[in-house]
Amino acid sequence: MDFSPPMRLDRFYSDRIEDGKIILYGQENEHAVRVLRKRTGDTVAVFDGKGNEFIAKIVQVGKGQSILEIIQKVPSREYPFHIAVAQSLIKHNRWDWFLEKITEIGVKEIIPLLTEHAVVKTEAKKSRWEKIILNACKQSGRQSIPSLHPPIDIEGLIGISGAYTTRLVAHPGGREIIQVPLSSRILIAIGPEGGFSGAEVEKLEESGFVRVSLGRFILRSETAPVYAASVLVQRLLNHSGG
Ligand code: SAM
Repeated sequence: MDFSPPMRLDRFYSDRIEDGKIILYGQENEHAVRVLRKRTGDTVAVFDGKGNEFIAKIVQVGKGQSILEIIQKVPSREYPFHIAVAQSLIKHNRWDWFLEKITEIGVKEIIPLLTEHAVVKTEAKKSRWEKIILNACKQSGRQSIPSLHPPIDIEGLIGISGAYTTRLVAHPGGREIIQVPLSSRILIAIGPEGGFSGAEVEKLEESGFVRVSLGRFILRSETAPVYAASVLVQRLLNHSGG
């Protein structure tokens, strides 16, 4: 099956899809009408962020909103498994890069993590982060928008970890990530530049997290989740046959 996005069509996001009609509004409408100069009769792709995507024709263009008519539904290309990444907060530009890349790879949940050794007390800029994630979804062909949690500490992470059937913590000296047993609902925790403290790793391990190694070399805090998520996606795809 061909899972590739409709490459030649510009993609937009809308959460107002009903009775065969789509309403583009706000920044998405502005982008379509003012920047890309879409006009009545043009065909575009629209996704709802919850896993659905449609090919649609613009039937009415407006400054505030435009109306589209659905032509056909696009098959789902989201992965049939769930990967959540709990990433320690890191410097702005590196955090932004992490958000973009982890979205492109297909992760379904992003959990900002407050850790002992984090040098950066990044202020949560939820709307800016959401914008980076949405843009990465539009560009990469994602149909689901990864959910973004408010920042939590290690105790908070342990508190929600029961929702996952595989819990991993990336820490040097662990079992190789390519060998560890997996399920289809995975949570992986990644430490800050200074790494997790001994106490943090201990707490996580006591709560059922398995320590995993990400190869022979020490990866930067933002590289580690990209490497880990890529390996997990490929392993789960091989296992499920796609
Ligand atoms: N000196 C720190 C330490 O020893 O933990 C290095 C931290 S590393 C720059 C940032 C985070 O990325 C780590 O806390 C870990 O979660 C992850 N990481 C990077 N390379 C890794 C590796 N080879 N194995 C396991 N985790 C790794």
